[in-house]
Amino acid sequence: MSRKITVIGTGYVGLVVAVGLADFGNHVIGVDIDENKIENLKKGISPIYEPGIEEYLTRNLNSGRLKFSTEIDKAIQESEVIFIGVGTPPKENGEADLSYVFDVAETIANNLNDYKVVVVKSTVPVGTNRKIKEFIKEKSGTDNFDVVSNPEFLREGKAVYDFFHPDRVVIGYESEKSKEIMEDIYRSLYLIQTPFVWCNLETAEMIKYASNAFLATKITFINQIANLCEAVGADVHKVAKAMGMDGRISPKFLHPGPGYGGSCFPKDTKALVEIGRKNNVDMSLVKEVINANEKQKERMVEKLEKYMDLKDKKIGILGLAFKAETDDIRESPAITIINKLIEKGAKVIAHDPKAIENAKKIFGDKIDYVDNEYKAMNDADALMIITEWNEYRNLDLEMVKKLMKGNIILDTRNVLDRKKIKEMGFVYEGVGR
Ligand code: NAD
Repeated sequence: MSRKITVIGTGYVGLVVAVGLADFGNHVIGVDIDENKIENLKKGISPIYEPGIEEYLTRNLNSGRLKFSTEIDKAIQESEVIFIGVGTPPKENGEADLSYVFDVAETIANNLNDYKVVVVKSTVPVGTNRKIKEFIKEKSGTDNFDVVSNPEFLREGKAVYDFFHPDRVVIGYESEKSKEIMEDIYRSLYLIQTPFVWCNLETAEMIKYASNAFLATKITFINQIANLCEAVGADVHKVAKAMGMDGRISPKFLHPGPGYGGSCFPKDTKALVEIGRKNNVDMSLVKEVINANEKQKERMVEKLEKYMDLKDKKIGILGLAFKAETDDIRESPAITIINKLIEKGAKVIAHDPKAIENAKKIFGDKIDYVDNEYKAMNDADALMIITEWNEYRNLDLEMVKKLMKGNIILDTRNVLDRKKIKEMGFVYEGVGR
């Protein structure tokens, strides 16, 4: 049965969820307070760069099953299921800022004209779903609704694929009625035998934080092993490959690099430490992961300083996004690295295929931006690859040589052929080799 759904917040998660649920045959209204975003979405223009999203957007707009609006009250009243997909950014102390989520909860409470399922997609600390339930009940004076926790696991850059092929769907619920509705909404995934984990609200919330903290730990672990490999003359790629052959370990998330970034791992690890502190439970392992990750980003600048005093040096930067195939630069290692370079007196010229507009909001005119990767290395003393965009994997090295003033290449993602680079007379630094 096709359900009437409103998705509140049309960012990286909400937009993908809205188009995905419409593609499953549901009738979906995507709403946001950002009028500009909604105007573009109505025309089929995605406010974010996410491979494949515009195709699904157009297809579902044309089918009439997907609409966008800024009239949040009306959308809630017309829908049976409300997905909350607004941001939960970190506060100064690391805690998740829940003000956007509770603003939305209040709007839902004010528009509870009939039974509704409130599905929390945003990543929220353990216990929040229950608080949302109590809050809506108190504000609306009715309990004719259910709250469901349905955390999102999509990867930016592969979000559309992940929505249609999730490893698992986690649903924390309390009433059979809400379970049946969720089964209906995700029927298409049932048909392809996606595993569903049905659990209570707290367990669903915990699964999300535990998963992200574990992945952040795995990355940090291999980064530290990479640093040790450098010191002892081992090759981290071979180490990671052989480790990954052990079925208990798995080869995924064992790629060394400049430290993890993005809108999830940094904030979710910090929030988990805060949840631990509030519950008097030791989260020292995750705390250390956060510290080690900060050091890993700084280490990339130290690598460069082995070769030069950075003052007045021209450093070409390839990649600003926190990973390839996204325009998202939230907590990108590039931010820490560039800030450190500026602090040390270097001049930065940066390229990214998709993230320049977002980077301008952070760096303004403190750095130069170029629209072609080769312009970033023109006259540069050193070149640094920070994001693993495909187009950086096959640089024309003759051209690089001709353009650069210096000969140092710092490849923080190990994407270049180091043997070839060294043969051409460059000084090559990777991570862990
Ligand atoms: P985002 O910042 O890209 O999008 C949030 C959207 O919500 C914005 O468009 C904003 O305008 C809108 N919004 C804020 N307040 C609103 C309100 N009161 N009414 C309507 N719209 C409102 O955030 P995101 O990256 O999509 O993340 C959303 C949530 O999903 C977060 O909790 C995040 O932790 C979680 N999550 C994100 C990812 C990811 O890869 N980005 C993955 C899994 C989970």
